Amino acid sequence: MAEKWLIGVDLGGTTIKIAFFNFYGEVLHKWEIPTDVSNEGKNITTDIAKAIDGKLDELGRTKSNILGIGIGAPGPVNLNTGGIYEAVNLGWKNEYPLQDLLEVETSLPVAVDNDANCAALGEMWKGAGNGAKDIVCVTLGTGVGGGVITNGEIVHGKSGAAGEIGHITSIAEDGAPCNCGKTGCLETIASATGIVRLALEELKIGGQKGQLSTIYQQAGQVTAKDVFDTAREGDEIALKVIETVAFHLGLGLANIANLLNPEKIVIGGGVSKAGSVLLDPVKERFLQFSFPRVAQSTDIALATLGNDAGVIGAAWIVKNKVVKSET
Ligand code: ZN
Repeated sequence: MAEKWLIGVDLGGTTIKIAFFNFYGEVLHKWEIPTDVSNEGKNITTDIAKAIDGKLDELGRTKSNILGIGIGAPGPVNLNTGGIYEAVNLGWKNEYPLQDLLEVETSLPVAVDNDANCAALGEMWKGAGNGAKDIVCVTLGTGVGGGVITNGEIVHGKSGAAGEIGHITSIAEDGAPCNCGKTGCLETIASATGIVRLALEELKIGGQKGQLSTIYQQAGQVTAKDVFDTAREGDEIALKVIETVAFHLGLGLANIANLLNPEKIVIGGGVSKAGSVLLDPVKERFLQFSFPRVAQSTDIALATLGNDAGVIGAAWIVKNKVVKSET
């Protein structure tokens, strides 16, 4: 009998990543299809089913080889139904029945979770987690995402909104407006967008000295990468921006750790590629603000799976579901 496979799907606003895995979480085949958000996102589940059927045909495999599909979706999940309460990027609202529709389209068992939670589970299973079962994952990208795992299980909360680390209030008054409708969220500071915003503010008041200022004058804009690159060269304005980011991120992570005492805090996403120029000051602030016993026992580590974390974690949730239903 052929080896049984798992399918992981990472559903994003522009692309859908799909991968076949063996039972041990090793990637066998991986590809992407575009996300069709027309027709209020109603073609998405059919597109995924067709893509899987097409790839199985190509490989000469049948569905009897597949244990199930795990999918990470960009919105809060109703764990009882596998529905997505709302996914603005996809046009889904009023609890879109993702699990039911994908099960009907594929005739396979489907497990659903939020995309950030899947990325956290991926890092736990195959990435920086390295055997740890109490992990907090933070993704610093265009926004700031998060996933909290305690004793190997994602913390979902009452309405699927647990782990929204990006929306921890970091500045109580006069903070910048956030996409969520609040002001002063950590995301307005520690995301790529937030870093650019802070840099532009500093450039306006900081005069016209230094490399970052030169880039701004020449290009009319700066990126988060420009901030990190020039900070490495000692640019004062860039270093000031990083100090602000490190203060708020270090404080936020310390408060999370003071509550949960995780074994690891895993930091991923495009901004984490900055490396030590960002991480060292974040760790410094983390140590300053965390309870001494927490400071001694909680490690801050970089994510290792990059963009694959989501599909790997999605495969993990369906593996978990199939194993549980068989025992
Ligand atoms: Zn927010």
